[in-house]
Amino acid sequence: MGLPEKPLKILSAPNPLLRKKSKALREVTAETRKLIEKLLWTLHEDPLGIGLAAPQVGILEQIIIIDRNVGQEEEDLVALVNPRVVARRGKESRQEGCLSVPGFYAPVQRSSWVRVKALSKEGKPIELAGEGMLARVLLHEIDHLHGILFIDRVEDWQACELNESCPYTHQRVKELAHSGAPKSS
Ligand code: ZN
Repeated sequence: MGLPEKPLKILSAPNPLLRKKSKALREVTAETRKLIEKLLWTLHEDPLGIGLAAPQVGILEQIIIIDRNVGQEEEDLVALVNPRVVARRGKESRQEGCLSVPGFYAPVQRSSWVRVKALSKEGKPIELAGEGMLARVLLHEIDHLHGILFIDRVEDWQACELNESCPYTHQRVKELAHSGAPKSS
């Protein structure tokens, strides 16, 4: 993972950069790989993080990092460039959180299985399928590339939880949902 360096600063809502659409990359350059190393390091350093998207550090490029073991086992971080969902199945609702909406958790309904195509950090085409939490992380991070936050998908606001480190009130998060979001995705 290269030399340890300072993790990148993660933006939190309502930062307007979180509501922008990220650009697909035409190729994975040395510069892209450098950025990927920084993103990997940033996620690695965050004990709560199981996924990170480039726009969360203010870079509007289609790059996500996910923990393939979703924090359950030894870390297995993978970078996906230009990820897109090519197949999905099922539906399930689970409690979800986001490093850009710290301390706030709410149930969100998502597909229970997805297949994603992307480029690896070496620029090679890769495919990744995941179910349960892995499917959820993939969909959550890909949403970030389209300016969508998980709070936009909350249906049951009664079931949300705020921990003591949450800088928002319940009402404030409700206001931030859909606020400044792109019209379509
Ligand atoms: Zn997030």
